[in-house]
Amino acid sequence: MSREPTKSAQQPPVVKSANLGFARLDGEAFPIFEAGWVWLVGAGPGAPGLMSLLCYHAMQSCDVVVYDALVNPDILRWVRQGVILEYAGKRGGKPSPFQQDISLRLIELARAGKRVLRLKGGDPFMFGRGGEESQALAMAKIPFRIVPGITAGVGGLAYAGIPSTHRDTNHSVIFLTGHDATGKMPANVNWQAVATASPVIVMYMAVKHLGEIAQALMEGGRAPKDPVTIISNASLPHQQVQATTLDQAGAFVTKNDPPTPAIVVVGHASDWREMLDWYTPALRENAIG
Ligand code: SAH
Repeated sequence: MSREPTKSAQQPPVVKSANLGFARLDGEAFPIFEAGWVWLVGAGPGAPGLMSLLCYHAMQSCDVVVYDALVNPDILRWVRQGVILEYAGKRGGKPSPFQQDISLRLIELARAGKRVLRLKGGDPFMFGRGGEESQALAMAKIPFRIVPGITAGVGGLAYAGIPSTHRDTNHSVIFLTGHDATGKMPANVNWQAVATASPVIVMYMAVKHLGEIAQALMEGGRAPKDPVTIISNASLPHQQVQATTLDQAGAFVTKNDPPTPAIVVVGHASDWREMLDWYTPALRENAIG
C-alpha cells in the first residue's frame, strides 16, 4: 500500500491509493458493505473509467480485496487506504491457486468478519468463475452480492470500434470460450451449431487454440474468408488490434503471436472497425479510459 503501481502481471502490484475523495458520491444511498459479506465485483476490461460506481464504492468500503491477474493495477489504486490486497492469480511462474483454495479463502475471510471484495476482470459471471465462487459461498451460508462489470467481449469490442450487434450485420452474438477447465479446446461444444447459429462469435481465451477452433468452425459450415479480429489488451494504453481471416487464423497466430489477454471476433461485425475505430493513439493519453 505504498509507492507506485507496477504493470507486471507476475508480481502483486504495489499500490498507492488514488484517494481522490469523490465527494459527490458521499452520502449517496449505496448498499452498506456489511462485515462478514463477500462482494463479487467485476472491474471491467481494464481502463479504470470502465469500473462501476458500485465497484468504486466497494473499494472504498471493504477491508480486503482478493483480486485476479486480469485486474489492472491502476484500478487497485482506488482502494481506501489501509485495505489489504491479496493476489489470487498466477504469480512468478508458480501454478495458479486451485479454485477451491480461492473459495475457501473467501469463506475464511468472511468468517473472520471481514468485508471481502472479490475483484475480477470484466464481469464476474462471464467466464470468470464467479458462478463457482458464489456457489461455494452459498453452500457455506456466507452472504454475498454480485456486482456486474463490463465484459471484455463487449467493452473490448467497443474499444476496437466493433459494435457487438448491428442491424446490418448481426441480430445475435455468441460468447464462446476457447478453453475448458483443463485448458484444452472445449470438447463439449457443438461446433456445427456454433458455426451456423450466429453471424458473430466472440471468443474468450481463444488465442492458444485458434487454429483448431477455426478449423472446427469451417468444418461446421463457416465461410473460410470470414473476418477474424484479435483485440489484445482491450481498453488499455497498449491495446493492439490485428485482423485475419478464418482460414488463415491458425497460421496468423503462430506467426504474429498476439499478446494476451485477447478477445477474438469472428464475423462481419469487424467490417465496421474501418469506420468506427475511435480509440486512436491520441486518445490513449488518458489514463482513466
Ligand atoms: N470475466 C472476464 C473474462 C475472464 S476470462 C470478462 O468478463 O471479461 C479471461 C479472458 O477474458 C482472456 O483470456 C481474454 O479472452 C478476455 N479478456 C479479459 N480482459 C481482456 C482485455 N483487456 N483485452 C482482451 N481480452 C480480455
